[in-house]
Amino acid sequence: MESTLNTNTTDALSLRTRKDFPILDQEINGHPLIYFDNAATSQKPVQVLDAVRRYYEHDNANVHRGIHELSNRATLAYESARERTAQFLNARSSKEIVFTRGTTEAVNLVASCLGQSLKSGDKILITEMEHHSNMVPWQLIAQRTGAELLYLPVKDTFGELDLDQLDNLLTPDVRIFSFVHISNSLGTINPAKVLCAKARSVGALSFVDGAQSGGHYPVDLQDIDCDFYALSGHKIGGPTGIGALYAKGDLFNELPPYHGGGEMISEVTYDRPIFKEGPHKFEAGTPNMSGAVGLAAAMDYIDSIGRQAIYDHDRELAEYFYNEISKLPGTQVYGPKENRAGLVSFLLGGMHAHDLVTLADQKGIALRGGHHCTQPLMKKFGVTGTARASFYFYNNRQEVDRCLEVLEHIQKRFGDLE
Ligand code: PLP
Repeated sequence: MESTLNTNTTDALSLRTRKDFPILDQEINGHPLIYFDNAATSQKPVQVLDAVRRYYEHDNANVHRGIHELSNRATLAYESARERTAQFLNARSSKEIVFTRGTTEAVNLVASCLGQSLKSGDKILITEMEHHSNMVPWQLIAQRTGAELLYLPVKDTFGELDLDQLDNLLTPDVRIFSFVHISNSLGTINPAKVLCAKARSVGALSFVDGAQSGGHYPVDLQDIDCDFYALSGHKIGGPTGIGALYAKGDLFNELPPYHGGGEMISEVTYDRPIFKEGPHKFEAGTPNMSGAVGLAAAMDYIDSIGRQAIYDHDRELAEYFYNEISKLPGTQVYGPKENRAGLVSFLLGGMHAHDLVTLADQKGIALRGGHHCTQPLMKKFGVTGTARASFYFYNNRQEVDRCLEVLEHIQKRFGDLE
């Protein structure tokens, strides 16, 4: 295939950042590694690894309760990471940020806490393109409370939400509208600001699943004006096991607690606990201090590149991949053709996604194959899964060309176009 990507800027980010990711400099099955599984998890720059190591070598102690120097330092590092996260998302205050294990825990936290006041007759609205993380917690809460769970449909394999049906579904009995900002299986970018305004207009809360947008796309929460937003640190160059939940204004004070334990109380008697205010009420037990330090370092790293630049780079690679892979006979590509995020879901004619991904791995290329935790959506499209290539700023056009070459070869050898 001949390259149709005619931009010199696409590879500039890769050239600049590649040295910070030693993991990328290795061979897999005798071929240079090409890592295109970034939507599942990103690689971590040495700056993040160093920050975590520095924390453990110099500052580690338990936070908040200590009255000694190391505990003060650990507390400062942890609370500074909260400030950094608020700034990264353009929240108004660090009191609007709770650290979680990731997006999944953030959705569970809100579903569980809000669920305590849900009852039969209330409605929860999500969309057909949600990741299981933003579907199963709501299914559980609907089952427990008798609230009704509604789905805003996806129109077709181009992956747009059917916004014509929004007014019918988003009625005043909807308590919360929770939707994915960027779809992990389609690459669709949903109009978060418009959807949140719609939710507000009927008195519903809004929850934006930012797992794929947080460090990949310019995100300004005051502009989006959502009630809740969640991200996962491991998808933006940070460590695993740390993420953030934003709740607007005083919402954390209005919700009941999630987990009980140390750190989240101001006083406990044998009769009852009295909870702390704001985010601390939701952080029971020893928190993930080193994770928060690593997350803040990842945010510094991302911002040293710029989220608009990252988005432009990833989108260009994705659009190029989308156009080129579409030329292979029998290929089905999913998600929007333009204005998409940096990932592409596809199937090569006559091949199961798992076979395709296994064969690509033999050439050192890491793709993902399966339902991408959007099983109902795959069923709607009549497939069990797709292959997915997802890009980040350290990827480059040469890698995409090599991947396309390998996929073309696989398709010719193993594809069944009958
Ligand atoms: N939401 C979306 C759109 C995702 O892509 C993912 C992970 O792939 C999640 C939620 C869950 O994120 P985590 O596993 O980090 O909690």
